[in-house]
Amino acid sequence: MNNPVRTLPDRPLPDRRRAARLAARIAAGESSLGRARRVGRMLRALAAAFPDARCELDFTTPLELAVATILSAQCTDKRVNEVTPALFARYPAAVDYAGADRTELEELIRPTGFFRNKATALIGLGQAVVERHDSVLPGTLDELVKLPGIGRKTANVILGNAFGVPGLTVDTHFGRLVRRWGWTAEEDPVKVEHAVGALVPKRDWTMVSHHVIYHGRRICHARKPACGVCTLAVDCPAFGTGPTDPAQAAVLVKGPETVHLLALAGFGVPEGDGAVIVAGDSEP
Ligand code: SF4
Repeated sequence: MNNPVRTLPDRPLPDRRRAARLAARIAAGESSLGRARRVGRMLRALAAAFPDARCELDFTTPLELAVATILSAQCTDKRVNEVTPALFARYPAAVDYAGADRTELEELIRPTGFFRNKATALIGLGQAVVERHDSVLPGTLDELVKLPGIGRKTANVILGNAFGVPGLTVDTHFGRLVRRWGWTAEEDPVKVEHAVGALVPKRDWTMVSHHVIYHGRRICHARKPACGVCTLAVDCPAFGTGPTDPAQAAVLVKGPETVHLLALAGFGVPEGDGAVIVAGDSEP
């Protein structure tokens, strides 16, 4: 974001001491009621931050989503979305992947990286769907995870977004954030999934996955989270991991919702000249 940053005076900011006290409380064993309330507030803040959150991979069928999700490993969704229109046109059904010419398939998916492994997975997926499921991608976790190229994370993406079955997608963003927030200390993705699943109503699992991943991509970055403009800050024990100064934090926010996110945090009121007003500075 290249906008100049100005500030609103007299706006209270979350502080590091409060975050440290919260971290100590969590380490000592946060009460289940306290955690439920804190998680609830964070979920509401996330929903307000990302009202249009959705699966960022383009697809029209469960099979297309399965293919796109396989391609998204070690690749951005944007790059996958650039590749898939031609891919889906060339291979509209499972039988087309099953009988694909490997060289041609590899060339089409090459921009997504690891294209040889991904081609193997797509051909294997097509063959397995044709042979075991009458050419129709199945809609249960047990069946999906037995297919080539589809692990539990991918299966949950497919279930949640293509079949309407609630699923928590524990990717690197999701795991990093829920550990930072003290929702769980688990490292294993399946254990994280179960721990968070116990904190969040099942009907919300898919959308909460989107919200958390959006937050990780746009604000709560691995190395330099934008703490100073984060709407979750007062409930986050990791506040202060990144810059707490709003002006420094504002420039770290990424994505098309940047102005909305800054305004929502109370730190970014867009002006006619494109400037962003940020709390905590004395300039008019
Ligand atoms: S950006 Fe900072 S305050 Fe916000 S959730 Fe991440 S670590 Fe916590």
